[in-house]
Amino acid sequence: MKSHVKAVVIGGGVVGCSVLYHLARSGWTDIMLIERSELTSGSSWHAAGGFHTLNGDPNVAKLQAYTVQLYKELEEISGQSCSLHLTGGVMLADSPERMDFLRLAHAKGRYLGMDTELITPSEAKAMFPLMDESHFVGAMWDPVEGHLDPSGTTIAYSKAAKKLGAEIVLRNPVRELTQEADGTWNVITEQGTVRAEHVVNCGGLWAREVGRMVGVELPVLAMEHMYLLTEPMPEVEAFNRETGREMVGVLDFKGEIYTRQERNGILLGTYEKACKPWSPVNTPWDFGHELLAPDLDRIAPSLEIGFKHFPGIANAGIKQVINGPFTFAPDGNPLVGPVQGLTNYWVACGVMAGFSQGGGVGLALSNWMVDGDPGFDVWGMDVARFGEWASLRYTNAKVRENYSRRFSIRFPNEELPAARPAQTTPLYDTMVAQNAVMGDSWGLETPLWFAPEGSEPRDIVSFHRSNDFEHVGNEVRAVRERVGVTEIANFAKYAVSGPAAEDFLNRLMTNRMPKTGRIVLTPMLNEFGKLIGDFTIAKTGDECFMIWGSSAAQKYHMRWFEKHLPKDGSVRIHRYDQTLVGLSIAGPKSQALLQKLVDVDVSSKAFRFMDFREMAVGGAPCMVNRITYTGDLGYEIWMEPAYERLVYAAIKDAGAEFGIVDFGMRALLSMRLEKNFPTWFRELRPIYGPFEGGMERFIKLEKNDFIGREAAAREHADGPKLARVSFLVDALDADVMGDEPIWAKVNGTDFGTIEKPHGYGAPRFDAAGKETRSSEADHGASSVRGIHDGEWSVIGWVTSGGYAHFVGKSMAQGYVPAALANDESEGLFEIEILGQRRPARINIEPPFDPSGEKMRG
Ligand SMILES: Cc1cc2nc3c(=O)[nH]c(=O)nc-3n(C[C@H](O)[C@H](O)[C@H](O)COP(=O)(O)OP(=O)(O)OC[C@H]3O[C@@H](n4cnc5c(N)ncnc54)[C@H](O)[C@@H]3O)c2cc1C
Repeated sequence: MKSHVKAVVIGGGVVGCSVLYHLARSGWTDIMLIERSELTSGSSWHAAGGFHTLNGDPNVAKLQAYTVQLYKELEEISGQSCSLHLTGGVMLADSPERMDFLRLAHAKGRYLGMDTELITPSEAKAMFPLMDESHFVGAMWDPVEGHLDPSGTTIAYSKAAKKLGAEIVLRNPVRELTQEADGTWNVITEQGTVRAEHVVNCGGLWAREVGRMVGVELPVLAMEHMYLLTEPMPEVEAFNRETGREMVGVLDFKGEIYTRQERNGILLGTYEKACKPWSPVNTPWDFGHELLAPDLDRIAPSLEIGFKHFPGIANAGIKQVINGPFTFAPDGNPLVGPVQGLTNYWVACGVMAGFSQGGGVGLALSNWMVDGDPGFDVWGMDVARFGEWASLRYTNAKVRENYSRRFSIRFPNEELPAARPAQTTPLYDTMVAQNAVMGDSWGLETPLWFAPEGSEPRDIVSFHRSNDFEHVGNEVRAVRERVGVTEIANFAKYAVSGPAAEDFLNRLMTNRMPKTGRIVLTPMLNEFGKLIGDFTIAKTGDECFMIWGSSAAQKYHMRWFEKHLPKDGSVRIHRYDQTLVGLSIAGPKSQALLQKLVDVDVSSKAFRFMDFREMAVGGAPCMVNRITYTGDLGYEIWMEPAYERLVYAAIKDAGAEFGIVDFGMRALLSMRLEKNFPTWFRELRPIYGPFEGGMERFIKLEKNDFIGREAAAREHADGPKLARVSFLVDALDADVMGDEPIWAKVNGTDFGTIEKPHGYGAPRFDAAGKETRSSEADHGASSVRGIHDGEWSVIGWVTSGGYAHFVGKSMAQGYVPAALANDESEGLFEIEILGQRRPARINIEPPFDPSGEKMRG
């Protein structure tokens, strides 16, 4: 065993071996994988080996597509078979809602370049004759699904990595991790200590323990999972003989069942409601290649439905029941990336579908370690997406909820109840007493809308407009016509101070920093010139700034800030989280309202649009920004939590004469739509350039050498290929939710190659591991190209939208080829909502207050 290496990967499951292979392929060959026992000694060996591309997050779907496409290359390089069976798969819908869900998934697939197809139950039966089609209303066919041999695949990764120079050490538990002053790690193992620049936690079932070695509690929990294998079935053999094909994989949402052919029988697994965590606090170190005791009673309700839906399986003998544990993060997606607050400690764990996702996880993580950037938009699996509130108990409740809902429909207006409330503000009880429907915003309870007195405050979940529609509309109209108040504690807030604070921010941000008492809006870019942040920054005093940003991105942004902090202590950064809370008042009467609450002049002359001021509001020390996300005249008022009740009571009291209303996040988001304002993680993400995102006003290429400037200047000089646009949509009773395809009828324009979202600058490799950027097909990239005269084609995608209540229009934002961005003509675009293509028109000027007159006051 070497004593010094560049990187140590801890864990020889499919994920660790994939990370090792991808690191080696990227040119890091001085690397070592250390495995406690033999390879596949966690969950990898007893997996059902199924793989598929579909994922609720299109970015993760893209990485799953990469994983599936990788296997052939892997077999060639390693000389080891993965026993690939690319059978294709069918998802069965038993209800109109589930069919809507499949239509949405199919529509999403269109712009991802996936080849899914909506089919009838009879067509599904022709592929899987063991089913009774009378239980279903429709289905979706996905040709890129199948199954493989889990152990063979893990070994293929390991052999390929070894061929490229990586070392694998078996039967050697890592016991401890310590860090030297220079940042290097001592990996203390049973066979001795290895010094490494980087450590990667691929501990799978033991990822929590490997996290605890550095004081981190990772939000991961293992669940028991069962599948059955039947005896050989004559029906299966007959089908194979007659068609020359294997049976397809089938997913039955209603029964919470997945099933497929295994040899000449059937494999059937369930995600049962009565799910069971395994080793909820500590994973025993002596757990080996073991299975857990089967518990068929637990999955009996699923089997009962399954045997009705698949009578062909009901009579088969059960040969074996496999029950094994594997890990999940609270939302079911992996945890990948560098851990904030630590240097060169990386994780790739919580991977619940290692054979669909392992390749993509390995690629993204190795890009990140080698190039400093994952090369994809990996937010959906970034370890930074969970805050401190994601404790062991939170994780336990959420993972159980997620597991039991794995095949349930998640509606766009659905808030999930487990592990709530986690964090609350001092106004929580007041909001609940006022009939607020509460939502979870990065672990914080936040009012979404207010139900009328006497009615039950709850959403009726739906893909269509629902019971909040009228009430959110009333909130919006009250704000636009009078004044409203809302909680904004769910924004991220940071203070940056010190002699080099301004230089630091100038280096990170694209806009010039404001003068004292003023505010600017500014994006932040990575080295590739892609958007990684969008902030409001106020200069609060000499060498002091306040920053507000996206709540969910707090750890993601802190990680970036810390990475770029000068080492000499000349800049300090503080993240407030819930030690600073906020209220926003907005609407034409908001200025008169604020004036009643303060003892200073807040007229538009004395306290201008984009001014910042510290003042006592209702007697409480506050920071006030003359800006709001409603795009109306308004203010953001920030205070310590101890003062929030006082300030809120003062606002409500003084606001009574103006007819003040409480409004929630849904009204706020509706108002931002009619101002064409983008949102972080929807319109603005690390796959878009600042000019594509329509942020040119905030990009000062001439100011100084900020991170990403060169790439942004190139984007500017070449002209962006894509453009963010707003649409007015002729919707029926359902508005866009995000990720819908945008169709256009264009006249013979060839937009050239526009890489569809979810991949940028990602290294591509040929079978020999050599980097090549030429091939598009190899990683599922697809292009918008060669549009023919008068033909309708998918040319873009929706990022978000909804109903803009004040202007009374359904609206959407999304990306289209830049050449089309200024064409407001009717009849050019259609947006596919729940399988129906609805006419849409680009709308360049915001429909509310296009001149900004009201906002400026
Ligand atoms: C019954 C069942 C069915 C499944 N079906 C599917 C399926 O159809 N498709 C699919 O994609 N996925 C499936 N899975 C999930 C799949 O098995 C996991 O996604 C995958 O195995 C995760 O791999 P991993 O490498 O992250 O973790 P693991 O396989 O748990 O590997 C972690 C490794 O790290 C080692 N390790 C831990 N700590 C240390 C230490 N301190 N020092 C040294 N080594 C250490 C362990 O010994 C272990 O070998 C299934 C799982 C089960 C249980």
